Amino acid sequence: MQKKTVRDIEVKNKKVLMRIDFNVPRDKEGNITDDTRIKAALPTIKYLLDNKAKVILVSHLGRPKGQIDEALRLDKVAQRLSELLGQKVIKTDTTVGPEVEKIVEEMNFGEIVLLENVRFNSGETKNDLELAKALASLAEIYVNDAFGTTHRAHSSTAGVANFLPGVAGFLVEKELQVLGRILNNPARPFVAIIGGAKVSDKIGVIENLISKADTIIIGGGMANTFLKAQGYEMGKSLVEEEKVDLAKDLMEKAAQRGVEFLLPLDLVIADGIDNPGKIEIVEVSKLPTDKMALDIGPETIKLYNQGIKDAKTIVWNGPMGVFEKDEFATGTIQIAQGVAKSEAYSLVGGGDSVAAIKKAGLDKEIDHISTGGGASLEFLEGKELPGVSVLLEK
Ligand code: ADP
Ligand code: MG
Repeated sequence: MQKKTVRDIEVKNKKVLMRIDFNVPRDKEGNITDDTRIKAALPTIKYLLDNKAKVILVSHLGRPKGQIDEALRLDKVAQRLSELLGQKVIKTDTTVGPEVEKIVEEMNFGEIVLLENVRFNSGETKNDLELAKALASLAEIYVNDAFGTTHRAHSSTAGVANFLPGVAGFLVEKELQVLGRILNNPARPFVAIIGGAKVSDKIGVIENLISKADTIIIGGGMANTFLKAQGYEMGKSLVEEEKVDLAKDLMEKAAQRGVEFLLPLDLVIADGIDNPGKIEIVEVSKLPTDKMALDIGPETIKLYNQGIKDAKTIVWNGPMGVFEKDEFATGTIQIAQGVAKSEAYSLVGGGDSVAAIKKAGLDKEIDHISTGGGASLEFLEGKELPGVSVLLEK
């Protein structure tokens, strides 16, 4: 099931409403600190401009909760986009309404406008159809290139497609291709590395990957809950008591399917995250009652990297420890190095995982870094993405 893209529809002399994800990180003064997301949208924007469409961009920034928030206006984003494109970018003061309609009517084909933050409108996150209709009335074609919001059914990601033919931009096309191939036809062995804080965030992914992957590697805070399910005492570590039974079920399912399920052999422990005190490495069976597990230990790293070495496909979501602190970043960094070195096709998704890979300076070694944490996670769970299902089929 493939979705139509901008290549499959005539865009010349057409007004095109394009949803992009310009929700960029900013400093306290509102200056953009990382323009990766703007750069990621450039290929589709350029394609549309080169093909003489009127390009009408719509994005959110932050969480203004349906009200105007001066700090979350998109002017600086428009400015950066203009620099990157080498072309003027018109910026409107509202997302929809008569003024916007006038600007769109008066602009030329081959020109571009960025609408004001769509989340200033209370209808956006409720997928309000009036807002969707107002947005759609500006254009003749809808392009979704905001992969990071495709898991949300909002007016600008899903609702607009009730009124306009919708197609994918290049970014969405690439994400769907890569993620689809990994789920449906992965080169084997297929190794999934799942970490992060909590099991509860990633139950769906683990469940779905048990029926797809050959090996599942568990790290991070969530490993504690699995270790607890194996009968280990986890001291003060982050454990989700109410998920211990589920963790047991997941391990049983993996065993039934012949999926290798790897858990830590040793752990880096301390008194706490902020006041670590003495940092030690212990076997999983030797965790003192007053200590917390904050990273995987060296034996675990060795075991995990052995599995990673021979993989042909690797999916990684969630850090192996509290990587924000250098004392507990070793596991994540060394697993990242293992993934970078392996011949496998590698995909990393998840905000913190991507940050960790960048921190390790290894992002260039990864085959695909997903631009959508939540969206890639839901795709890997086997869920439908509302912002994708509304697009036309090929
Ligand atoms: P991603 O954003 O890549 O999906 P998550 O948000 O699920 O990842 O998890 C990342 C968070 O998990 C990080 O903030 C990290 O500090 C935390 N974490 C990792 N290991 C542990 C641990 N052992 N105990 C507590 N928190 C942990
Ligand atoms: Mg996260």
